[in-house]
Amino acid sequence: MPSIFSKIIAKEIPADILHEDDVCLAFRDINPKAPVHFLVIPKKEIESLADVSEEDEAILGRCMVVASKVADAEGLEAGYRMVANTREEGGQEVPHLHFHILGGRPMNWPPG
Ligand code: 5GP
Repeated sequence: MPSIFSKIIAKEIPADILHEDDVCLAFRDINPKAPVHFLVIPKKEIESLADVSEEDEAILGRCMVVASKVADAEGLEAGYRMVANTREEGGQEVPHLHFHILGGRPMNWPPG
């Protein structure tokens, strides 16, 4: 199902893109919840983490590597948090799989 993130991938709407390759895209969240807050998304339209299959392993691995490299480039050597809000009870609003990377301040646990 196309979402707002499909339009960002297609460059139909602008985003502050931090990384792009054939498999995934990293861009700053429009409504940041931390001094550094970016999203890593697969270009493939996967609705959520609950909708992945084994054929997506390479895509998911690439997203993790990109998250790590962009976090490093953003100066998050003190640490950060990766979050994948998943479906309704997980608090997911955009139905395109995305990983939040939040950093630049201490994170609380447990999340709300
Ligand atoms: P979710 O609640 O689905 O896990 O998170 C979706 C995230 O996408 C939110 O943090 C929201 O601020 C971000 N977001 C929604 N629409 C846009 C947009 O058009 N551009 C950017 N850069 N981020 C967006």
